[in-house]
Amino acid sequence: MDLNTIGAIIAVRDRAALAAAHPGAAGTAVLAGGTWLFSCEQPHLRTLVDLTALGWEPWSVSPAGLRLAATCPVAEVGALPARPGWAAHPLLRQCVRALLAPPKVRAVATVGGNVCLALPAGAVTSLAVALDGTAELWGADGSTRHLPVADLVVGDRRTALRPGEVLRAVDLPERALRGRTAFRRTSLHRLGRSASLVTGRLDGDGSFTLAVTAAVPRPVVLRHPVAPSPAQAAAQVAAAVEGGPGWFDDVHGAPDWRRAVTLRSVAEVVQELGGAS
Ligand SMILES: Cc1cc2nc3c(=O)[nH]c(=O)nc-3n(C[C@H](O)[C@H](O)[C@H](O)COP(=O)(O)OP(=O)(O)OC[C@H]3O[C@@H](n4cnc5c(N)ncnc54)[C@H](O)[C@@H]3O)c2cc1C
Repeated sequence: MDLNTIGAIIAVRDRAALAAAHPGAAGTAVLAGGTWLFSCEQPHLRTLVDLTALGWEPWSVSPAGLRLAATCPVAEVGALPARPGWAAHPLLRQCVRALLAPPKVRAVATVGGNVCLALPAGAVTSLAVALDGTAELWGADGSTRHLPVADLVVGDRRTALRPGEVLRAVDLPERALRGRTAFRRTSLHRLGRSASLVTGRLDGDGSFTLAVTAAVPRPVVLRHPVAPSPAQAAAQVAAAVEGGPGWFDDVHGAPDWRRAVTLRSVAEVVQELGGAS
């Protein structure tokens, strides 16, 4: 839709220009794919700072793992080629497909926009927390800090971003990419938004990571030195959610239903990865 309150769109080409254009002032926001920004009224905004002219390489691989630029289109994440040893590779496509949007939207929606929008059903957030993703954040004062994505998304449409801070990239460590993963997504109907998304990851050293998104306002991640039993895992997830953020409630699913499907998915994920019975 047309945003008729916007007076300027500033395309920035380097970090200094980004910091100058986006110092954290009210009325200014960064623009990435624009699939959410242009989907609803933004009466509080006057200026958009366009990140897409920064020319960041969409993704790169190093011995440390996979770096996804904030401006990397979500569709590209799902199409990334497999590499030897990356047992977790199918999870890239599974999570991208969890963004229930037409290919046209997935082709322009970005990694950074998805994480920073911080919807509970953020598909890239699900991927990043499943694989111990770390966010590189650029401050308007020239500082850089790193935060687990699981700590960056703090609630429904809420992040730990400071005023003027921009997500530069999400780093997925090689160790996690080598883990075996399992994935369960539930929605109220076949083409519905994710109401519950559960991932499990079994690493080479036997450690086990469970992550729940979509059913909760912010990611819930539980780490175990060895795989728990399905019943243990389900009980621990229930305790962590009910002693923490609670079950999410919106048109995509009632909390008691989200609880039921999530705990069933947790048990299935643990079973699939060979958790002790
Ligand atoms: C049909 C349809 C279906 C959708 N389904 C889903 C879904 O299932 N799950 C879901 O999560 N979303 C969904 N969305 C919402 C949205 O399209 C996605 O979340 C998308 O990934 C947002 O990315 P974007 O690049 O378009 O963000 P934009 O619209 O450009 O920006 C979104 C927000 O993030 C901020 N932002 C963007 N990049 C950065 C950055 N690098 N640093 C700091 N802040 C930044 C912007 O200022 C803005 O507040 C859907 C949208 C449509 C139209």
